[in-house]
Amino acid sequence: MNKKGILIVVSGFSGSGKGTLMKELLARYPDTYALSISATTRSPRAGEADGREYFFVSKDEFEKMIAKDELIEYAKYVENYYGTPRDYVESKLDEGKDVILEIEIQGALNVKKMFPDTLLLFVTPPSADELKKRLVGRGTETMEVIESRMDRACEEAAGMEYYDYLIVNDSLESCVAQMHDIIRAEHRRSSRNLEFMREIKEDLERMRSRR
Ligand code: 5GP
Repeated sequence: MNKKGILIVVSGFSGSGKGTLMKELLARYPDTYALSISATTRSPRAGEADGREYFFVSKDEFEKMIAKDELIEYAKYVENYYGTPRDYVESKLDEGKDVILEIEIQGALNVKKMFPDTLLLFVTPPSADELKKRLVGRGTETMEVIESRMDRACEEAAGMEYYDYLIVNDSLESCVAQMHDIIRAEHRRSSRNLEFMREIKEDLERMRSRR
């Protein structure tokens, strides 16, 4: 069966719980998945560490990375650059790991254009009401910020159709299981197993010719 890992993009509304979901998936299957760490020009938030959540770089450094073709994709999001370093992704895929990029839709569509085999997953809460409840429930944001996240969700919702699967985040447990199952099924897709099919066909032909 196919030995190379699958490139997976996970997007979702702010408040969809995709961050928690990714952490849980990685914790449960550390040998199966690798999470790409993006480079960004935005400043670290409290509790974030360089090389863990992001590689925090200057605008100059980021533009050099673009010029040297060191990024698979990049996008500007709210005045800052975000991009996916190429080396890590390619080496992990070669090791046979499924590599997850947690990126916004513009980047997701660019990756899909360049690598049509990419699996696109979109994480959403069960309803718009629930999304608002979660954003309010966090208690960390002002009403103004919550409204702007809800506006942003409206824009992002317009792109949901481009994704291969929707993951409805009602409970963490079932959501992690769903995501893992979808990815496992994706490994069985016939178009990802052309070599296996070719070998089995050749062996069958060989057996027939010996009869
Ligand atoms: P935040 O600043 O909240 O960490 O991230 C803002 C947005 O940028 C999120 O939607 C996140 O998924 C997206 N993002 C993070 N890394 C990348 C990247 O490498 N490329 C792109 N296109 N988006 C990214």
